[in-house]
Amino acid sequence: MDNQFDVIVIGGGPAGYEAAIEAAKKGMKTALVENRQLGGTCLNRGCIPTKTILHSVELYTEIQKGAEIGVHAEDIRCRMEEVHARKEAVLEQLRSGIQSLMKKHKICVFQGTGTVVQAGTVKVTAEDGGQELLETGKILLATGSVPSVPPIPGADLPGVMTSDTILSSPDVWPRLTIIGGGVIGMEFAAIYSQLGCKVTVVEFLDRILANMDKEISQSLKMILKKRDVEMITGAKVEEILRDKDGNLICRYAEKDVQKETVSEAILIAAGRRVNTKDLFEEGFSVKTNEKGQIITDCFGQTSAAGVYAAGDVTGGVMLAHAATAQAVNAVCHMAGEEPQFDLCVIPGCVYTSPEIASVGISADDAKKMGLDVITKKYPMSANGKSLLSGQERGFMKIVADAQSHKILGAQMMCARATDMISQFTAAIVNGLTVEQMAAVVYPHPTFAEGIGETVRG
Ligand code: FAD
Repeated sequence: MDNQFDVIVIGGGPAGYEAAIEAAKKGMKTALVENRQLGGTCLNRGCIPTKTILHSVELYTEIQKGAEIGVHAEDIRCRMEEVHARKEAVLEQLRSGIQSLMKKHKICVFQGTGTVVQAGTVKVTAEDGGQELLETGKILLATGSVPSVPPIPGADLPGVMTSDTILSSPDVWPRLTIIGGGVIGMEFAAIYSQLGCKVTVVEFLDRILANMDKEISQSLKMILKKRDVEMITGAKVEEILRDKDGNLICRYAEKDVQKETVSEAILIAAGRRVNTKDLFEEGFSVKTNEKGQIITDCFGQTSAAGVYAAGDVTGGVMLAHAATAQAVNAVCHMAGEEPQFDLCVIPGCVYTSPEIASVGISADDAKKMGLDVITKKYPMSANGKSLLSGQERGFMKIVADAQSHKILGAQMMCARATDMISQFTAAIVNGLTVEQMAAVVYPHPTFAEGIGETVRG
């Protein structure tokens, strides 16, 4: 029967489409239900569009500084319409890559909204209202997340955007206020500050990138300040309004003092909430926490037998690679196999300039946990490749167990940090010691030599 499957995946983001491929590779008859575009948030409204735009903007900045290293160029311009057109071309190429993979693995893709009627039954509602019922052995919920807009009066005014809307606009405003100093807010601050926009960040907590190592958030704050980004921390946004000149006013309280920013546009980057809209037919549900995030065990199983969940919809680390790893592990469990990924060690990256990456615990975490650790730090100003490429600002730090010398964590703020962090991730997953990492010969001159210097230091 055509509508009978072994696995139905609802949601075609990095959790869903990778899970579908894994299931098909294991010989399961697989369906994928997606109501927007394949690739999910990551490909269409997240990781890839932001980094494509950042790439253009950083090249623009680098060319402007070319004269410092003997490269002279005139009439350098960054045309945002063209940057966005290229971004769309990149997204289209990647989307068609996923479509080919679906075909190659004989995955049935249903365009529509998937609703779990009961364990084993999924209803697909197409855009034209047409419905069909699919039967399956297992279900994977991978419906991801959407921008969270706090209940601030005026948050719905024209010109107040989320990451979804700002990414579809080629406009560069003279002034932009960003509400939220987390990873997404910082990446947009990096983009717009390099385009000559006066950026102001208003953050509720007492520092930006509050989940990261303190020294990293302090250093980034200093770097962005030098680029004329204003950082306001410990500030609660109370309302947004439009003044008589058409500007947007963001009113906030800083230590009980009322203040405001004035800008042409506002980006709300205050986190993400899970997307479970239309996911369950009345009468069917799975256990969720107070934020509505679906609760799973370590195999991805929800409270309903045969129903699994993975990715942003389960909360936790809302990152694309974490979503994929959780989803692949869930499929392994469905197939009665051991999990493929160690989900305890998930690296996190921020694509600012310099890049930021971290994995495992920081020295502060170790202190809070009462662990006896050793720490090492290396300034990248001593690294040849960093110096010759004009990217000497930054450092690498590691934390290791004081007795066994096993690596427990690493934090990096330097060029290519987001690529190099994988070496420390591999070290932690495999229980490597400082000495084992120090035995590695690194090619010269490379940024990665900094890793050798850090562990040997
Ligand atoms: P999603 O990617 O959200 O995919 C879920 C899919 O399910 C969507 O396509 C949705 O349309 C579909 N769907 C929802 N409900 C239904 C339904 N009922 N029926 C059918 N389909 C449905 N992470 C990184 O690791 N690195 C980054 O650099 C990075 N940058 C980011 C930048 C921004 C601006 C944003 C917003 C996010 C970024 N992220 C990044 C986070 C990353 O995008 C997410 O963690 C990742 O996309 C989560 O994958 P997912 O598959 O769980 O969900």
